[in-house]
Amino acid sequence: MENMRQKKKWAMFIDATKCVGCHACRIACQNQNAITPKEYYNRIEEQEFGKYPDYNRRFFPVQCQHCDNPPCVTVCPTGASYKRDDGVVLVDIDRCIGCKYCILSCPYEARIVNEEHGYVHKCRFCIEFVESGESPACMTTCPTGVRVFGDLNDPQSEISKIVTTKKPEKFRKDLNTDPSIFYKKV
Ligand code: SF4
Ligand code: SF4
Ligand code: SF4
Repeated sequence: MENMRQKKKWAMFIDATKCVGCHACRIACQNQNAITPKEYYNRIEEQEFGKYPDYNRRFFPVQCQHCDNPPCVTVCPTGASYKRDDGVVLVDIDRCIGCKYCILSCPYEARIVNEEHGYVHKCRFCIEFVESGESPACMTTCPTGVRVFGDLNDPQSEISKIVTTKKPEKFRKDLNTDPSIFYKKV
């Protein structure tokens, strides 16, 4: 019988309790994707909490969640936005007409417009890197090990073990977008 290769399901775990807000991931992402400092696929939300003298800040990294039920794909009139079998949501910029429906539909504000050419773009999970056996730039650059990326269909992968044992949360689960990013929140 033919040796069937199991389909991959790429996913990421983000341990926000380890994030120190250094923005190294954002800058690495900008370099990797050759986007300008004003554009970002990856943002670090900040929240202040507590009262003096017990006062602190927490950080929450947000990017495209590579939803399994992605509204950006549903609303795209040209098929430019699409979801691959391995779970990654991409934009074919040659098919994008810049209507911005996908931007309006994305509840995570994960998409941006290329000001020069008018197409929409966003986090790609560094898919070319991943397909050549590397990891996304935001993961490898993070100095505190916030991010774990891998194949959810491989029970031996670190991300599978984390998802199985730690039961991390999805961001805005109530929206039924079914993200491929899992969080441990502060
Ligand atoms: Fe689409 Fe936004 Fe989900 Fe990414 S986070 S797949 S852009 S709806
Ligand atoms: Fe699709 Fe581009 Fe319109 Fe977004 S801006 S919905 S990717 S055609
Ligand atoms: Fe947080 Fe790591 Fe990004 Fe720094 S590189 S902002 S610690 S996720």
